[in-house]
Amino acid sequence: MKYDVVIIGGGASGLMLAANLDMSGRRGLILEKTGSPGTKLLMSGGGRCNITRGGSIKSFIKAYGESGPALRKCFYRHNNIELVKWLADNGIALADEKGNAVSPEDMGEAGRLFPSSMKASDILNLLLDKSKENGWEIQTDSDVYALTAPADDADSWTVEAAGKTISSSYVVVASGGITFPETGSDGSVLELLKDIGVEVTDVRSALAPVYVKDYPYEELSGISLSDVTVTAYSSDAANTCKGKAARMTGDLLFTHRGFSGPVILNISKYAEKGELLRIQYNRDFSDLPKRLQRAIERRAAGPSGDIKTKTLALLVDHDDFTVSSIDENGMVTSGGIALEEIDMSTMQLRRFPGLYAVGEAIDADGITGGYNLQMCWSTACTAADAIRS
Ligand SMILES: Cc1cc2nc3c(=O)[nH]c(=O)nc-3n(C[C@H](O)[C@H](O)[C@H](O)COP(=O)(O)OP(=O)(O)OC[C@H]3O[C@@H](n4cnc5c(N)ncnc54)[C@H](O)[C@@H]3O)c2cc1C
Repeated sequence: MKYDVVIIGGGASGLMLAANLDMSGRRGLILEKTGSPGTKLLMSGGGRCNITRGGSIKSFIKAYGESGPALRKCFYRHNNIELVKWLADNGIALADEKGNAVSPEDMGEAGRLFPSSMKASDILNLLLDKSKENGWEIQTDSDVYALTAPADDADSWTVEAAGKTISSSYVVVASGGITFPETGSDGSVLELLKDIGVEVTDVRSALAPVYVKDYPYEELSGISLSDVTVTAYSSDAANTCKGKAARMTGDLLFTHRGFSGPVILNISKYAEKGELLRIQYNRDFSDLPKRLQRAIERRAAGPSGDIKTKTLALLVDHDDFTVSSIDENGMVTSGGIALEEIDMSTMQLRRFPGLYAVGEAIDADGITGGYNLQMCWSTACTAADAIRS
């Protein structure tokens, strides 16, 4: 079977590309491993889909840390205003967290944005409709298990899936990361890429709850606290509390198993098993929630049960834990196709003409708040421009 463009993965980024690339006169195929496309997109934002957010392009670049500068061009070319406008033009109005309508003209510094129906399925249905309107075929239950680069005298890639051999001038990797493997994104395509010599950086779960040894706050499950500073130390820094450490401030959530909430999710990719996680509550003991006060008092009590005032003050300022694990099912994957491999003005792999990569499969992950789906849009539209021309 011969196609012009094959997209591996029918998730957010693959469908965003297909929804923006008219295949008139050309054949396009989306190969999706699972029985239905867009499963992770449906889970996003707790089923409400925080599709993007207000804010400057600079804030998006910053949200991507070290990989931000590489994404700069994509974010400028296909930004949050464009995405909100495209959705509005296609019948999906957006709203902020409180349900207030937000339009492309007045989104300014609006925070997280959702479809006003608060249904991720509206976004998925639109992407599927537009992809079909653009002439794309979607084959589900089609696990891509082999990928072969063109032979010297040929210009077609070979993709094998569901017992079929498909050749295509362009192949786009939109296969996501490794978390929530039941959604289909299990890292299998990253392994195929390694086999053909593509550099793939180590992958790990990110935007994930962090678990610590002897977690003492089980009974505080559900309590959240704003403006908490969390520091994740690397092995070099743990003993001295100097050297390489990541530090962030934001909302902390106590769960029955460990720490979560935006500040923990955002710092999770820097937390290492066996290393120090330091929590600073940034307020006086008397300003902490009563249940947390009681739990900290218990920790500050010596064997005799006497509360040591010094220890109490120290715990409020430095509540230290040893990381035992990071939840494997983070909202995103850190690591993936090395950005040095990719020409970020086209999303084509520099050493592999005809091979493109978009979305979470690349080595870029943002903080929580709509940044990650915006990155899917920005990279997918950048690739669509390049393949179209
Ligand atoms: C619980 C949860 C909540 C989230 N909420 C938000 C949010 O509100 N806002 C936000 O910005 N981000 C959110 N994210 C992150 C966001 O959903 C992802 O970054 C985004 O879906 C990634 O899109 P993708 O297309 O790159 O990958 P995916 O959505 O993972 O899609 C990849 C697709 O490729 C397919 N595939 C994989 N391997 C193969 C193969 N070998 N052959 C064929 N197909 C294959 C998979 O089946 C899958 O359908 C959330 C993530 C989770 C898990």
